[in-house]
Amino acid sequence: MTDSIRFEGGMGEGGMEIVRRLAEAGHAAYFVGGCVRDALLGRAVKDIDIATSAKPEAVLELFPNAIPTGLKHGTVTIPLRDWQYEVTTFRAESEYSDGRRPDEVVFIDDVEGDLERRDFTVNAMAVGADGRLVDPFGGRRDLAAKMLRAVGDPAERFGEDALRMLRFVRFAAEYGFAPDERTWAEAKAGAPGLAAIAMERVFGELSRMIAGADPYRALRLLAESELLRWTKERLRLPRELGLAAGVSDDPLPRLARVPDELARWALWFDRMGLGPEEADRACKALRTSGAFADAIRRTLGLHAHLRGAPEAAARRSWITGALRYGEETSRRWLALAAAAAETEPYGWAARYVDSGPLWLAEMSARTLKELAISGADVLAAAEGRKAGPWLQALLQRLLEHTALGELPNEREALLAQARVWLAESDGRKRDGI
Ligand code: ATP
Ligand code: MG
Repeated sequence: MTDSIRFEGGMGEGGMEIVRRLAEAGHAAYFVGGCVRDALLGRAVKDIDIATSAKPEAVLELFPNAIPTGLKHGTVTIPLRDWQYEVTTFRAESEYSDGRRPDEVVFIDDVEGDLERRDFTVNAMAVGADGRLVDPFGGRRDLAAKMLRAVGDPAERFGEDALRMLRFVRFAAEYGFAPDERTWAEAKAGAPGLAAIAMERVFGELSRMIAGADPYRALRLLAESELLRWTKERLRLPRELGLAAGVSDDPLPRLARVPDELARWALWFDRMGLGPEEADRACKALRTSGAFADAIRRTLGLHAHLRGAPEAAARRSWITGALRYGEETSRRWLALAAAAAETEPYGWAARYVDSGPLWLAEMSARTLKELAISGADVLAAAEGRKAGPWLQALLQRLLEHTALGELPNEREALLAQARVWLAESDGRKRDGI
């Protein structure tokens, strides 16, 4: 690690410009938080936060195009070239009476005071325009030792804001930090405090863990701390969170190899023994988007459909599954299965991993839209019948046969088949079947 930390490149340049302009106007100004941590680690910096002694009104005056995004908390957003920078006035947070949010925000003049309110030592460092590191809590030492430690008294800090316990797990997993023993002990002891946290914020943290660099490690830490037992709304997840005791057969250590976040969630839910309906309840409790819940429900639905299929009918099951749950779901499931099929409990999935993409590619129609005839065509051929549920059922049946390769996706052939089925059903009606 170098002694002078430089923020360079497009986003870094813009940050430097803001810090310099604040300094020229007589204010203290620093890069803070995650960008300092990531710069020290040599990681790509995702976003730049700047802290300053300037009050929000002064920042707005200096940067006329700044947007007052969080004035109550002292935050304004400055768009500069292709990036946006959050500039927040130094503040101390006093009196968390509810374990959630500070009761009032007090603006202060010194950067050390601002760093003191931050959660972990590695997140509580600042860098000035001269590249000098401000590190009152030994963040750099902890970074070098790969140690995640609370700033100050961990019990107090988790008591102020219970979300920090989940953040602790997230950062430990994401960066491979070892939990500082005392901090970790207090996170476990403080777990019931999580009941004060809004479920969408819990989901926000969980989703970053699942999508992150080492979701399996996050799950192990969550299981060990039993944090998820204490959420405001009961999630009803098993305490061991699906982690198998005999590790060799557990697909969850392979989660990081699943490229799709939703597929990761689906695999985790399945491993915890949640079916589509139970997973849907968990999504509702976590306040996920409807699209997220829908994707999970479909992926687990397809999973159950395929798991129950006899091996001899693998191709048929795959194709009917793709029609029922959609091609996107099939591809998402493949992402999950590619990692899981190497383990014994998911060994059955291997036949789909190998052949599924090919079977998908061979389908000459995947949706009713892709079918070479429409409902109107069938009606015209149906001699006086009125539209009704039968029409949809007939189109579905044509689609299934076409997708399975039993009928060509051609207008005349499909119409001929439709006429045969209609005549058959007329015959059945006549015979009173
Ligand atoms: P990421 O790369 O995940 O964005 P980050 O460190 O930038 O990591 P943010 O959630 O963006 O994390 O927060 C920015 C900074 O604000 C943190 O580095 C930390 O200093 C501080 N911070 C954020 N949330 C909290 C909190 N709940 N309690 C105390 N400090 C916090
Ligand atoms: Mg950030």
